[in-house]
Amino acid sequence: MTTIDLITISKDNGDVCKLSDLPVNEIRGVGPTRSTLLRKLGITSVLDLILHRPRRYEDRRNFVQIKDLKKGDTACVKGKVVVLGVKKFAHGRRSLFELVIDDGSGRLHCIWWNQPYMSSYFNKGDDLIVFGKVTSDRPKTMDNPETETLNIEQAEPESNQFIHLNRIVPVYPATEGLSQRWLRETIWQVINKYAGYIKDDFPEITASGFPQKPLAIRNLHFPDQISEAELATKRLALDEFVSLFLQIQIRLRKFEKSAKAPDCSGTNEKMRLFLKKLGFSLTDAQIKVLREIRADLRGPKPMRRLLQGDVGCGKTVVAGCAAIMAIEKGFNVLFMVPTEILAEQHYNTFRRWFDPIGIDVVLRTGSVKNNESGPSLFDIAENYEKHSGASKNISTAKLFIGTHALIEESFIADNIGLIIIDEQHKFGVAQREKLVKKGRNPHLLVMTATPIPRTLALTIYGDLDCSIIDQMPAGRSKIITKLVNAGESDSLWKFVRQQLANGKQAYIVCPRVESDPASEIKAVKTEYVRIKKLLAPFEVALVHGEIPREEREKIMDAFRSGAVSVLVATTVIEVGVDVPNATVMVIENAERFGLAQLHQLRGRIGRGVAESYCFLVASPRKLDKAAYDALKRLNVLVQTSNGFEIAEADLQMRGPGELLGQAQSGLPSLKFADFIKDFQLIAQAKEIARSIISKMNI
Ligand code: ADP
Ligand code: MG
Repeated sequence: MTTIDLITISKDNGDVCKLSDLPVNEIRGVGPTRSTLLRKLGITSVLDLILHRPRRYEDRRNFVQIKDLKKGDTACVKGKVVVLGVKKFAHGRRSLFELVIDDGSGRLHCIWWNQPYMSSYFNKGDDLIVFGKVTSDRPKTMDNPETETLNIEQAEPESNQFIHLNRIVPVYPATEGLSQRWLRETIWQVINKYAGYIKDDFPEITASGFPQKPLAIRNLHFPDQISEAELATKRLALDEFVSLFLQIQIRLRKFEKSAKAPDCSGTNEKMRLFLKKLGFSLTDAQIKVLREIRADLRGPKPMRRLLQGDVGCGKTVVAGCAAIMAIEKGFNVLFMVPTEILAEQHYNTFRRWFDPIGIDVVLRTGSVKNNESGPSLFDIAENYEKHSGASKNISTAKLFIGTHALIEESFIADNIGLIIIDEQHKFGVAQREKLVKKGRNPHLLVMTATPIPRTLALTIYGDLDCSIIDQMPAGRSKIITKLVNAGESDSLWKFVRQQLANGKQAYIVCPRVESDPASEIKAVKTEYVRIKKLLAPFEVALVHGEIPREEREKIMDAFRSGAVSVLVATTVIEVGVDVPNATVMVIENAERFGLAQLHQLRGRIGRGVAESYCFLVASPRKLDKAAYDALKRLNVLVQTSNGFEIAEADLQMRGPGELLGQAQSGLPSLKFADFIKDFQLIAQAKEIARSIISKMNI
């Protein structure tokens, strides 16, 4: 159930239909061309249009007088175009379009660099509204202001002027070919026609002092006061939060009522031997989390637990222990990971861990579909004979490791007691649910290193209990992170050579596989050739997602064994890869990656005792806002390696929408709700959702 589903209308012919199902071309004046343009704005239905959120408002009741403008002011003024023209410079390669408006109190120059076509949009004598920042006092100038010409569209009836003038008007995200005025008039028309049909789906929200939904929608677009628009936005945000929490809580309720889960809490028989042979002792944090898991696995309810812990904190071994518990009790375990490389790596790790204790491990990926491709029981038995102290029974329950190939229908395993998902943020809620359906009420453990701030995690993973590993294994080295300008990388490569000469290994990461002549973004294929030469005679290998599995495995093995010193790779190595002797990472075009991804990548080094080095090579082509943002992002990494601090910074910079990405998929999209700004609303929304649920019969 979403808010959107509840908005229904009766069509002219009496049919009942949802506003979300009414396509925009039902609106007068919207044909194929405008439909296409609207789609660019993410608008396909009438409802989308009704909920098209203004990006700002302009108070056109009182325009500022040009004579009162001062440098630095951001203002909206109205005047008549008195002069306009284009100047060319540098043999026509650069141009300046300038127009001057006069409002009776003074003159304002408006300028646009290198957009000579702008001159065709205006005529002398036009009445113009301009909005922007005053960048100079003498003459008074605005750079690149937004403009709206009054009364130019021929089809526009004079009588519609009141929509655009003498009121607070909405300014929308628009696109070339769809003017503000057209959007404003169309939305005006649509609201008048349909607002009456919009149901107040959560009267509880109205009851707590917010405007009713139809009024909120009207005020969102055409408020009498700015404060009305703010309140309307809050109401709509609350609607979204409430429907989000309803979904989460309904899922939780259903889950609580579901049947009993098997007892997978183990016998300690194999566990004891496993821990003895492991070669390190678990950290206190790992032990604490394992206690929580064991308590859950005992039943009677299926476990639903999120295990969060920064890159390298040792989640895999915790997963391994959980798997042993279930297997000891005779249940199969599925372990799903997002990439083949990670599946192969886990497969190797678990063979190393589980062969000696007599647990069968099976690999299942897109490349390996044979259920029986794991070691034969004979191998295991042989292996096992070498161990004294192990129980004589070889468990018939197995650990299946695989990619999303585990979800496919062709994969069948019965008697599934526990499902583990690694790097859960790479999967959607729907995939998680699908895998769970492979078993009958199996226990579920999902793991992630993508640092999602705690508050947010609890909200999004509201149906999961949360365990956190907040401690690194002892003996981890520091990682020194440096920002390097692409133009000054000579000393960087000298340093890398030195490290290699000391017996260390390195990763070189590039954003792409193939190079593209039109772009300067580094591609592994070309970088591989360059770096091979640059670092000769050290052994360099190339790995990316398109290399066939067997070859890739050989390369990874060679890197693990040290036969290969340098791995040139795409982000396929982002998750899981674990080679403690690799102490250097160079990330090319680091500005192309997000914070969370860079943090994950960097997590590949610093796994041994020797100091590690991460170089973020950035080559911003021009110093625009995007480049500035990228530098800010990279500096966060230089300053901290604490995953939670990085997550907070990421959240501040990008907002939660993008950050949540996959995690949120399957849940309603949030147009109005903002996890940071609307923090106050979250508690209120949870309360309302709870009271609604208590009245529902589920
Ligand atoms: P992540 O949590 O990122 O998945 P891993 O499980 O890959 O981390 O662990 C990283 C490395 O740390 C592995 O080599 C693992 O064997 C090792 N490790 C895990 N726990 C401990 C521990 N308690 N003491 C020492 N090393 C450990
Ligand atoms: Mg891991």
